[in-house]
Amino acid sequence: MEKIQNYINGEFVNPIQDNWLNNYNPSNGDVYGQLPNSTKEDVEKAYLAAENAFVSWSNTTLQERSSIILKIAELIIKKLDFLAAAESKDNGKPISLARSIDIPRAASNFQFFANAITQFSSEAHESIGMNAMNYTLRQPIGVVGCISPWNLPLYLFTWKIAPAIAAGNCVIAKPSEITPMTAYLLGEICTEAGLPKGVLNIVHGLGNITGEAIIDHPNIKAISFTGGTKTGAYIAKHTAPMFKKLSLELGGKNPNIIFADSNYDKMLETTVRSSFANQGQICLCGSRIFVEQKIYEKFKTDFIKKVSKLKVGNPTEGSTNIGALVSKQHLEKVKSYIDIAEKEGGTILFGGKTVTVKGSENGYYLQPTIIEVSSNKCKLNQEEIFGPVVTLMPFITDEEALQLANDVKYGLSATLWTNNLNRTMQFSKQLQVGVVWVNTWMFRDLRTPFGGQKASGIGREGGFEALRFFTEPKNICIQYE
Ligand code: NDP
Repeated sequence: MEKIQNYINGEFVNPIQDNWLNNYNPSNGDVYGQLPNSTKEDVEKAYLAAENAFVSWSNTTLQERSSIILKIAELIIKKLDFLAAAESKDNGKPISLARSIDIPRAASNFQFFANAITQFSSEAHESIGMNAMNYTLRQPIGVVGCISPWNLPLYLFTWKIAPAIAAGNCVIAKPSEITPMTAYLLGEICTEAGLPKGVLNIVHGLGNITGEAIIDHPNIKAISFTGGTKTGAYIAKHTAPMFKKLSLELGGKNPNIIFADSNYDKMLETTVRSSFANQGQICLCGSRIFVEQKIYEKFKTDFIKKVSKLKVGNPTEGSTNIGALVSKQHLEKVKSYIDIAEKEGGTILFGGKTVTVKGSENGYYLQPTIIEVSSNKCKLNQEEIFGPVVTLMPFITDEEALQLANDVKYGLSATLWTNNLNRTMQFSKQLQVGVVWVNTWMFRDLRTPFGGQKASGIGREGGFEALRFFTEPKNICIQYE
């Protein structure tokens, strides 16, 4: 039994009330560990450690801060295989994905913000003719909260922590209780890298207890949250009277718009990935596929053929393309949408069934599923499923494609496949999303602003946007004679 502990003030400690939760291995359904069911008292203990560390950390030179954070990145890369195996076991994702995407990206997050902080500058405004100079002082906020989901555990956890500590804050972080392992292992890495005690505190537990204690804490002035729209709305409402600074990265129901004039082979290959990578459990997956009528039938045939070759299997095997869904409960939720499809008049073109993997019969496996729908108004096209399920629908005109793409409450990302420049420009301007990919998908340059519109959240992370979020701007106005 692997026992995870909280990481508070640079030390691994049990939860104060000695309450524990089970940690499941999605590939076989076994309980393989336990994690703290932390309460308000544990969060308070973490807060005191963070508060105590703040004065010193926020006054550490940029060079020193940067070199410690770079060391964290270096150690993550050094432990790549170990961390990838841990992530795959905890989450159910193919080990190949954890090794090639999740863990390297966690290292890049630290590397990027360690460098970015040395280049971060703020504005000066000379009030000409008034003998006055204004400048903006950007100061760390103090103790901040970072709460992340289970789909890209270490990747998203570090996407918040890295800019927060680079900007001089101290952090109370909570990973999802469903995937706590790599967050736990990060504690050891931070100690080894020489991160001073109390700068990062990792408290494990349930959203409605541990998470709630973080958002509710009167002195935690900023919350960076990635998770579901419903939880984000709750956090926004709950924290409004406390005037906390919020960054909310929420759900998506992203359109993948395919025109006949695109590079067909590249589009097909990428669409398989953008539909089913990480079992479709990426907020950026293109779950609504709209295809120009002219190539609709051809696309349908080729897409089904390619998807049928994906191997659903044990995440530890190198040849597995689709691993296990993260939990039994999530598998049930995704399956319930497949049932709805049939009631709504959708046609299952491929998949739709659970898969029994030999030797791992109790794992949470589902076939990649393609459903043809006739209306964008159906639940399948309007609600976030967050699993290996995509819908297909044809369109005829550009106007129709744009209308379909925007006709949803979410606004995270969109993918456009075309080689027409005018269309690219028009769609890029008119798509109501935070990120538009043209002829590619999930191409991430960490300098770019990342986030969503509409029900996909508020605020932007990435690049200097994240450093702006984690600092408080102050206007200094000096008049001289
Ligand atoms: P949840 O909203 O259920 O949970 C996210 C995190 O918030 C978890 O750590 C959770 O803890 C915690 N939490 C839950 N309730 C509260 C609360 N009342 N107060 C404070 N914290 C709380 O999301 P999921 O973990 O299910 O993640 C999937 C969702 O995340 C999808 O909707 C997906 O689209 C979205 N997402 C968005 C991304 C983006 O960048 N826009 C990227 C990746 C995912 P616990 O797990 O213990 O409940």
